Amino acid sequence: MAENEKTQLLSMNPQELGEALRAMGQPAFRAKQLFSWLHQGVPFEQMSNLPRTLREQLRQTCEDNPVRVLETITSKLDGTVKLLYALPDGHVIEGVLMRYKYGNTLCLSTQVGCRMGCAFCASTLDGCARSLTPGEMLGQIICANGVLAAQAREGERSAVGNIVLMGSGEPFDNYDNVVKFLRILRMEGGLCIGMRSVSLSTCGLVPQMLRFADEELPVTLSLSLHAPNDEVRRQLMPVARSYAMDDVLAACRHYIEKTGRRVIFEYALVHGVNAAPEQAVELAARLRGMQCHVNLIPLNSVPERGLRGVSEREVEAFKQALERQHISVTRRREMGDDIEGACGQLRRRYLGQQTHADAHTEG
Ligand code: SAH
Repeated sequence: MAENEKTQLLSMNPQELGEALRAMGQPAFRAKQLFSWLHQGVPFEQMSNLPRTLREQLRQTCEDNPVRVLETITSKLDGTVKLLYALPDGHVIEGVLMRYKYGNTLCLSTQVGCRMGCAFCASTLDGCARSLTPGEMLGQIICANGVLAAQAREGERSAVGNIVLMGSGEPFDNYDNVVKFLRILRMEGGLCIGMRSVSLSTCGLVPQMLRFADEELPVTLSLSLHAPNDEVRRQLMPVARSYAMDDVLAACRHYIEKTGRRVIFEYALVHGVNAAPEQAVELAARLRGMQCHVNLIPLNSVPERGLRGVSEREVEAFKQALERQHISVTRRREMGDDIEGACGQLRRRYLGQQTHADAHTEG
């Protein structure tokens, strides 16, 4: 429990770190040193340019990285790494590290679980336990950098270069922490990852989308659309009852105008629900004239919800129907198929085992 009460330094920007250090009687220049060490994932003991007494004081009262790797599973097919992390209060989250030719992409969680209730999504099955702090988001990247460094060959430099906020949680349901995370993420002396290397995926919380367009954080916005109209969207996504598709698309247009960046529409194909070629034509009509791209995701079946994915032929037919309407479209590459790459699956298996083990000790 004492762990919980420790100050979470990784959630602080350099100015806040400076104030925390001043309260400990330290000079201002130490903030920059500490900030840099923290983001390199160096434990307090090894922060060699800090006085020994300060290092000890920090170790006792503060947390360097609130996130700890519990388990990693590496795909034999493509080197994708599935990570299971523990948080200071015992919650468990997961992430995926994807190795592409052009660099390493990490999929981050923004909440423990999710409360958006999308019918096809495993992350939301148990609701949302809590939102993550900025430090817990940064901490996932620092952990992944540690995994990469351990796997790197002699002399090879390897770190996370791209971030996708597509793990569990709805980033805009944790707005302030996500915005603070992004501001710290791009800072020099820290992880220094620019907004062009970040994709943020949202189920379409319109007020936050409009507000975010003014933050001057020009990330790639991914919008989980999954339907050609409100009726189908409401079947899959409870959030569609709060915001009409027209308003969601208007918010996307606003984002495109403000940032000059195209929006990506995520579309998971669900058998018998949203995957008919006529629905592709309807979708194209809604998106006409927008600077956008459609990313087709073959559904990872969620047996708990009775939803089925589509065949390869259906994906291709839907894709071609969009292409005929001159909509830019790709099919999402599946990675880590052998290691439960999809959102929420590994965590659910882990929690399932825990409950099982608990039942055994009790019995
Ligand atoms: N809450 C955000 C972030 C989640 S991102 C959002 O809704 O966008 C994860 C992406 O994977 C979203 O597009 C989500 O709709 C999609 N997804 C979730 N479960 C899926 C499944 N079983 N099969 C395919 N895509 C899924």
